[in-house]
Amino acid sequence: MFYKLTIDDLTLRGRRLFLRVDFNVPIEAGRVMDDSRIRAALPTIRLAVTRGARIIIASHLGRPNGKVDMNYSLRPVSRRLKELLDRPVDFAVDCIGTEAIQKSRQLSDAQILLVENLRFYPGEEANDAGFSQKLAQLCDAIYVNDAFGASHRAHASIVGITKCVRQAAGGSLLQKELQYLGMLMGNPPKPYLVILGGAKVSDKIDVIQNLLKSCSHMLIGGAMAYTFLKAQGLPVGKSRVEDDKLDVAKQVIELAAEKNVKLLLPVDHVIAKELRKGTEVRICSIRETPDDWMGLDIGPATVDNYSKEIATARTIFWNGPMGAFEVPPFERASLSLAHFIAEATKRGATSIVGGGDSVAALHKSGASEHITHVSTGGGASLELLAGRPLPGIEALSNH
Ligand code: AMP
Repeated sequence: MFYKLTIDDLTLRGRRLFLRVDFNVPIEAGRVMDDSRIRAALPTIRLAVTRGARIIIASHLGRPNGKVDMNYSLRPVSRRLKELLDRPVDFAVDCIGTEAIQKSRQLSDAQILLVENLRFYPGEEANDAGFSQKLAQLCDAIYVNDAFGASHRAHASIVGITKCVRQAAGGSLLQKELQYLGMLMGNPPKPYLVILGGAKVSDKIDVIQNLLKSCSHMLIGGAMAYTFLKAQGLPVGKSRVEDDKLDVAKQVIELAAEKNVKLLLPVDHVIAKELRKGTEVRICSIRETPDDWMGLDIGPATVDNYSKEIATARTIFWNGPMGAFEVPPFERASLSLAHFIAEATKRGATSIVGGGDSVAALHKSGASEHITHVSTGGGASLELLAGRPLPGIEALSNH
């Protein structure tokens, strides 16, 4: 990030600033159900207020597919933002055009305008140059990207607009995300644990390969563990396996040995005949998995093994749940791990949790406040950790 402009480099007082944030939050019956993403952007907004900018905030919300659809209106977000900031937030019913331009020009220093969903126009996702120009008309040639969660997308408000302004800089959240996720690819204090779970190996193979270069331990759980276990010739019953990825799993096991990374796989699991709330469950060792049962969470012996590693770790990264955590009782191991990670953090470890489902499990556990950094960007963080440049970062002005 050091080679890109940051918000601290910009002269803001009296100038209209276009601030792209990620306010893609769940909304039900006109109410914001989880405001974490709004809260995550507050430091940058407050900084811009303190420095006297005239702030135009823009975001996407959901997938309205380039059409106006009031189910995806940002108006409920403007109400929540006003409450969180405890100051007025004006709202424009369109993100481009006469009304939005007029409202942007009427702003005084430190005043805020939120414009309507960028994805009401197809030009946003198409990174259309004309649409980018129209967005840039709202500001005085200064732009800040604080939408880390959308920075892996080459969209108009992320990439196109940077060509239409004089200075394009990164916001505080963007810098924080890059600092922590960047640390995971560098040489952080060891033992350095990468805990991976979730549905598929194929989604995360690039991340696994890249992080094997820097971590000391890799702990695998969730459905993806079964592809590794089957690759080792162990019985997995009806558990979710990617049969076409057995070779990939074998390569990962070899690569881990080559890089001296301790790779830990489940030794036992919670099994059931179907994925359903209240279904009959058993705990068994992997070796004893019956043919017609499936593994839906890692078992207590595995949690015990993993918790011992977590207890002595100095750096921990967790992405992906250890089981089908949406359905009780298969959330138990994910919630326990969240607590063990929180405990390790209290003792001085740096902990980073990323990915929608692991963040949801973390919130469910009530341990989030103890985590060093909870990443706001699922897809964007995986792209970055796979070692691929993010278009939204690349597009910012160089220092
Ligand atoms: P991901 O998006 O790759 O992080 O995967 C998260 C999804 O994986 C969640 O919906 C979990 O329910 C699911 N999942 C995790 N473990 C299992 C498992 N053992 N069997 C089936 N689904 C699982």
